[in-house]
Amino acid sequence: MTNVDHPKRKQLVEQLEEMGADAIFFDGFEDAIIGLCNQQYKGPFVAYDRAKCIDILMKRDGMTHEEAEEMFGYNTEGCWAGEKTPFVFVDIEDATEIFICSACEIAKIGDTPNGENVGGECLNCAGGEIKRFVCHG
Ligand SMILES: [Zn+2]
Repeated sequence: MTNVDHPKRKQLVEQLEEMGADAIFFDGFEDAIIGLCNQQYKGPFVAYDRAKCIDILMKRDGMTHEEAEEMFGYNTEGCWAGEKTPFVFVDIEDATEIFICSACEIAKIGDTPNGENVGGECLNCAGGEIKRFVCHG
């Protein structure tokens, strides 16, 4: 089965034909297609679920999460293919919050390392400041 024959892609191509519109696809990420995004005077655009794209690279291509992030971020998400460039959807539920001390670098996912406040003093080293990062995908 080629990417063009993927059922989700075929369905969208048919839908686009009915609308008299065209769109650009990210090849090889058919399982991550959500559907179409519309915006007045622009679009439609094909929308992809970012977390699923990362998953495809990890499962299909055997990449680590970091490699998949880099590959997708640079080659796919970071690609401008003109005004029909697909949309990459990030579910806010998929975002991971990481809290880390600026000095000792003690870190925890989802909460501050020792119940500190964000921007407050680190209870581990008493010198650093707790910072919050949001990691997508
Ligand atoms: Zn610290």
